[in-house]
Amino acid sequence: MSHGCAPDSPQSIMLVDSHCHLDRLDLKPFQSQLRNALAAAEAHGVRHFLCVGITLEDWPAMLRQVQEFAQVSTSIGVHPSAKNARPPDFDKLRRLAEHPKVVAIGETGLDYFHDQEKDRQHGWLRTQIAVAKAVAKPLIIHTRNAREDTLRLLKEERAEEIGGVIHCFSEDWDAAVRFMDLNFAISLSGIVTFKNAKTLHEVARRLPADRLLVETDSPYLAPEPHRGKSNQPAWVRHVAAAVARLRDVPLDRIAETTTANYFRLFGRS
Ligand SMILES: [Zn+2]
Ligand SMILES: [Zn+2]
Repeated sequence: MSHGCAPDSPQSIMLVDSHCHLDRLDLKPFQSQLRNALAAAEAHGVRHFLCVGITLEDWPAMLRQVQEFAQVSTSIGVHPSAKNARPPDFDKLRRLAEHPKVVAIGETGLDYFHDQEKDRQHGWLRTQIAVAKAVAKPLIIHTRNAREDTLRLLKEERAEEIGGVIHCFSEDWDAAVRFMDLNFAISLSGIVTFKNAKTLHEVARRLPADRLLVETDSPYLAPEPHRGKSNQPAWVRHVAAAVARLRDVPLDRIAETTTANYFRLFGRS
C-alpha cells in the first residue's frame, strides 16, 4: 500500500471518519481518484466518511465529487475563518441543508487564532445554529482560542436543543464537561496521537464512551506516525488506536463504540 502501514485483520472492525475534507485530499498517491483513497481507507476498516463543508461556494463541487459514494455523507456550512466567503444566509442555507446527502450543519464555530472579527464570526455562528434547529440536523462546531465565547453563544442560542459535535477537540477536561452538558459529543483527532498532548490524553481517558467520536480532519493534522504529511481518512485508525491505548481497551471496542455514536448522532444520508 502506497502509504505504508499494514492493516491487521481489517475485516473485523468498522470505523467512521467523522470529519474529513475529501474535496481537499492530496490524491497523488491514489492515481488522482477519490475512489482509490476511499478503498485504501476501507482496507484499514474505515467504511464511512462525513465530508465537511467549509464554504457555500465550494459546496456544489464537493457534493458532485462525493455524490456517487453511498458511504460518504456531507455537511453544509461556513467556516469561521473563511472570512472572504459568502456569508451564511438563513433561507439559502436552510434550503440547501434539506438535501438528502446533508446530515449536519457546519463546520461553523469561532476561531480567534486566525482573525479577531468577532462580530462577523458570532453572526455566522448564530445563523447556523438557527438553521440546524430549523432542519433538525446536528451541528459540527469548530472552536479555537475561543472557548468561552463558543460556550456562551451555544448557550444563548439554545444549541443544546439540536446538539452535535465539537470537532478536533483540543480543550481540557473541564471544557469537555461543559460542552457535553450542552448536548455535544467530543471528536478526537490526530492530536491525541501526539506524545506531548497530555491534556488531551486525560480527556481521552475520562470521556464517557457514549460521547466519543474519532476523525482525521484530513488533509490537515496527520496523526503519528505520519505527522507532517498530507492526512487521509485511512489514518483515523491511528487516532482510534491511540484512544484505545489510552483507555486500555481493544481497538475493536473503540471502533464499535465510536461508530455506534456516529450513526446515532448523524444517521445515514
Ligand atoms: Zn475545523
Ligand atoms: Zn475541518
